[in-house]
Amino acid sequence: MIYLDHNAATPIDDRVLEAMLPFLKIFYGNPSSLYRHGRVVRSAINGAREQLAELISAQPGQIIFTSGGTEANNLALSTLKPKARLAISAIEHPSIIEPALHLKNQGHDLTLINVDKNGLVTQEAIDKIINKKVDLVSLMLANNETGVLQNIEDYTRQLRAEGINIHTDAVQALGKIPVNFNQLGVQLMSLSSHKIYGPKGSGALVFDKKLIDIKPLLSGGSQEQGFRAGTEDVPSIVGFGKAAELAKNELVERHAHLLKLRTQLEHGLNVIPGLTVFAQQVNRLPNTIQIGIDNIDGEMLLMQLDQKNIAVSSGSACASGLNEPSPVLVAMGIDPAQAKSAIRISLGKSNTETEIIEFIKQLKSLITTG
Ligand code: PLP
Repeated sequence: MIYLDHNAATPIDDRVLEAMLPFLKIFYGNPSSLYRHGRVVRSAINGAREQLAELISAQPGQIIFTSGGTEANNLALSTLKPKARLAISAIEHPSIIEPALHLKNQGHDLTLINVDKNGLVTQEAIDKIINKKVDLVSLMLANNETGVLQNIEDYTRQLRAEGINIHTDAVQALGKIPVNFNQLGVQLMSLSSHKIYGPKGSGALVFDKKLIDIKPLLSGGSQEQGFRAGTEDVPSIVGFGKAAELAKNELVERHAHLLKLRTQLEHGLNVIPGLTVFAQQVNRLPNTIQIGIDNIDGEMLLMQLDQKNIAVSSGSACASGLNEPSPVLVAMGIDPAQAKSAIRISLGKSNTETEIIEFIKQLKSLITTG
C-alpha cells in the first residue's frame, strides 16, 4: 500500500513499540502503588513527561497527559469561567468547534474568527476580538486539512498585552515543524501521540500554571496533579514519550525529507489541468497538500485510489463519509462544488520518491479515464 494519510494517523515507529512492550508485559503495576514495582512505572511516566517537555521546550510540570488531542482540546476549553467569552477560528478541528458550541449553549459568548482565502487569520480579525475583550482565543497552529500555518507568535504578543489567554491546537504541527511552547507565547497547547509515530489514545495538554486554572473533566483520583483522574495508560504514555524523543532528534532530517517529497509532488500536480493546490502560496506544513480537481468528486476519487492500493483522505478523517464540502475550505471561501472535489495527501517519514511517482501516475490515469 502507498500510505499518504499521515495527518489521520501515523504508523507506530518500531523503536516506540519496543519502548512500550515492557510496560505491557513486565511492568504492569499501578503507577500509584508505593512498592518498587509501582515506582518503576511511575518513573517511566515521569521520563515520558521529560521527553515531551524537551521536544516543546516546556517544563515537565506543565504537561497533563490525556487520552489524545480531543480530550486535550476539551480540557483547554473547560478552563473558561461561567459566561466567559471565547473566540475560535472558523477552521478549527471538530474537537474544538463542538465543545465551543456546547459552551455557547450553556451561556458563554462565542465568536468565530474568519480566515482569508488562504486560510489565514487576518490582523483585522484579531483587532475585532481584542475590541470584544474575549477571555480565551483558540487558534490552531497548523490546519489538519490544508497544512496552513498561522502566525501565532505575531498574535499572541498583541492578545497577551490585552490580558487575553491563547490556546493553540498543535496536534498537526508537532513533530513536523519546531514547536516551542514558551516562544509561541500561548498559555494552553494540545498535542497528540498518534500523529508523531506514537500510539493512539495518548495526548497532552500543556499549560501555563501561573495564568491558567484547569478544571478537570473527570473526578476521581489525584493522577496528573489532580487534573486528570484515572489510572494512567502507561504503555501509551511511554510510547508518546519515546515518539517525542525521536521527533526531537530527527526533526531536521524528517522536515527536509518531507519538504523534498512535497516539492516533487507539487511539481507533478501543478501540470495537471483543472487541478488547484489550496493555499499553495502560504506557509504550510512540509507534509500536507490539499488539492481540488475540476468536475471530480473527492470521495469517489478516494475510493478509486483505494482500489489502486493508495490511501489518501478527503478532508479530515472525522468528517469523511458525510459527503459534505469541507468546512475548512468553505470558511476559506472556496466554492462548495470545488470543495467537494478535495482530497488531502499527507506524507510521512517512510514515503519515497518512487511512491510519489506512482501516485501521480495513478491519479492522472484516474482523472483522464473518469
Ligand atoms: N486536532 C487536530 C488538528 C487534529 O488533526 C486531530 C486529529 O485528527 C485532533 C485534534 C484530535 O486528536 P486525537 O485523534 O488524538 O483525539
